[in-house]
Amino acid sequence: MIPLVDLKAQHDSIRAALDDAVADVIDRSSFIMGPQIKEFEAAFAQFCGCSYAVGVSSGTSALFLAMAACGVGPGSEVITIPHTFIATAEAATALGAKVVFVDIDPATYTMDTSKLGDAITERTRAIVPVHLYGHPSDMDAILDVARKRGIKVIEDCAQAHGAQYKGRKVGTLGDVGCFSFFPAKNLGALGDAGAVTTNDPEIARRISLLRNHGREGKYEHEYAGYNERIDTLHAAVLNVKLPHLDRWNEARRSHAALYNELLASAGVTLPSEMPWARHVYHLYVVRCRQRDELQKHLQECGIATGVHYPIPLHLQPAYANLNYGVGDFPETEKAAKEILSLPMYPELTDAQVERVSSAILEFFGTV
Ligand SMILES: *Cc1c(COP(=O)(O)O)cnc(C)c1O
Repeated sequence: MIPLVDLKAQHDSIRAALDDAVADVIDRSSFIMGPQIKEFEAAFAQFCGCSYAVGVSSGTSALFLAMAACGVGPGSEVITIPHTFIATAEAATALGAKVVFVDIDPATYTMDTSKLGDAITERTRAIVPVHLYGHPSDMDAILDVARKRGIKVIEDCAQAHGAQYKGRKVGTLGDVGCFSFFPAKNLGALGDAGAVTTNDPEIARRISLLRNHGREGKYEHEYAGYNERIDTLHAAVLNVKLPHLDRWNEARRSHAALYNELLASAGVTLPSEMPWARHVYHLYVVRCRQRDELQKHLQECGIATGVHYPIPLHLQPAYANLNYGVGDFPETEKAAKEILSLPMYPELTDAQVERVSSAILEFFGTV
C-alpha cells in the first residue's frame, strides 16, 4: 500500500533527535511557555524572513487570533475562498463576523483576484487569501485592493510553509501570516500547534498577549484573552524539525516534477506553478472528469488518494445561513468534483511515484 502521507517515515529519519528533545522537555518540566518556545519563534521568524513569529495552539487559533488582533468582530465581513478547509472561515464565524466568498482561479486553486473587487463592502475588515496546496495566492493583486481601502490582509499559510511569491516567503506579504503545524503539514508537530508571523510590532504584541490570557506578567491582565498557547513540547519538536524543512520541501518539489513528467500525457490536468510562484506541494492535486472511478482504480492498485475538499464551504450545512446556493462559485464547484490528491510526502521514493503514475496511465488506457 502506498499511503497519501507517511508520518512515521519522517519521524524514523530523525528519531534520536526527537527523543532527545522530548526527554529534555520532561527533564526541565517547564511545560507551559518554556524556553523552547522563544527559541522556536525566533527561528521561525528568521526562516520566513519577518520580524515576529508567535507560537499558538493550532492553525485555527492562529487565524482566530490574527482576525481578533485586526479588529474582526460582530458587524464585520471577512473575504475568503470557498475551496478551503473550514478552519479558514470558522475563525471569522467564531468572532461573530460574516464570511463572504470569492471563487477560485482554477489554474492555482487560489483566489480569483479579478472577482475580489465585487465582494468588498464598507464592512469588509479582512481579506484572507489561502495559499492552498502550497501554491501562493496572487498577493500583489490582493494587496492592491486592500491597501487602498485600509483592509487587513491575513494569509492562510497552513499548507504553504516556505512557499514563495515573487521571491518572498508567504506569511510576510500581508499584515499577518497564519501557520498550522498539524502533524501532516509541511512542518508538523506531534499534535496540534500553530504560529502567526508579522512585521507589525503592535499586532505581534496583541497576539502574544491574547494567546495567554491577555497577560504579560503572571497575574496582571491587559485584555480578557484566551488560552491558545503553543505547548513547550511542540516547540521543542519543531526546533528539531525546522532545519530540515527546506530539504523536505525540495523533495516534495522533485516528486512533483517526476509526477509531471510521467503524467504529461496521462489524461489528467496537472497542477500548475505560476512564473512568480515557488510551490511547496503540501498536496499534489490532479483533476479529471472520471475522478471517482480513477480513485477507485487506484485504491484497487493499493494506492491511497484524497479529495481536498469534496464539499465547498458555501454548500456546507454549517454555512446554510449565508444563503449561498449551487452555481454561485462555479470554479470551486467544478474543482470539488474533479480533484484528486496523489501520495505526496518527502520520503516518497521515485519507484513509488512511478507506480502511482503507471496505475493512472493504465486507467486511461494509454499503456
Ligand atoms: C490545516 C489547515 C487549517 C487549520 O489548521 P489546524 O492546525 O488544523 O487548526 C487552516 N487552513 C487550512 C487551509 C488548513 O489546511
